[in-house]
Amino acid sequence: MSAGVRLLGPDDPAPCIVLNPAGASSFLLVADHAGCAVPSGLGDLGLEAQDFARHIAVDIGVAALGEALSARLDATLLRQHYSRLVIDCNRDPARADAIPPVSDGTPIPANASLSPEGRAARIEEIHAPYHAAIAAALGQRDALGRRTIVVALHSFTPRMNGFDRPWHAGLLYDRGDTRFAHAVLARLSAAIDAPVGDNEPYAMDGIDYTVPHHCYPADRLYAELEIRQDLLGSPEGVAQWAERLAGVLTAAAGDLV
Ligand SMILES: [Zn+2]
Repeated sequence: MSAGVRLLGPDDPAPCIVLNPAGASSFLLVADHAGCAVPSGLGDLGLEAQDFARHIAVDIGVAALGEALSARLDATLLRQHYSRLVIDCNRDPARADAIPPVSDGTPIPANASLSPEGRAARIEEIHAPYHAAIAAALGQRDALGRRTIVVALHSFTPRMNGFDRPWHAGLLYDRGDTRFAHAVLARLSAAIDAPVGDNEPYAMDGIDYTVPHHCYPADRLYAELEIRQDLLGSPEGVAQWAERLAGVLTAAAGDLV
């Protein structure tokens, strides 16, 4: 703990919310950006309340999608509770932009003036315990000899830098064992009558943290999914995507057996 700085108060939950910890599925669902909370000690980061409903603060729709997928697949979901504007858990914490001073053109006042102690507290109380929880879950499964496929859930804004993104979903992958990601890409492309991004709208690279950190060293199967946010904007949309993805993920896992 950093001397004198304590970020999470007694009413702030731990950063990693675990849903269905006894889930029997091979899939371990992780959602780095599915929360929009701010620790009570940080106030509003200098932002308006409505900014926390924007894509800069949270992957819109992913908490609901993760819960629905967890139920359909009987899979454990590890969901990060705090906004990516507090700290981005899909970034190496050593990167300056893990705590962005500006996001999609919006200045984040509390981040621009952050002290080294304040930065260390966000890493130690949110980023580190969230990733420790993922590592512990993986270690437990390994010890039991369980098959594990890591599925990282994200969503993307439909319009960025003046460009309307045509993809309804995207598969992100880079190094490590990419067989599952490729199987999901093929299955999802066949399942929907719309473009599925192949490392679009983003390519996975060294800027990502969760999949590279937890999957590459052990050669774990993984897929990082991006779903367009407007498609997750209603309970019906979430339910439709959960049903579709449950089928696609299950079929893709079967392709590898
Ligand atoms: Zn995300």
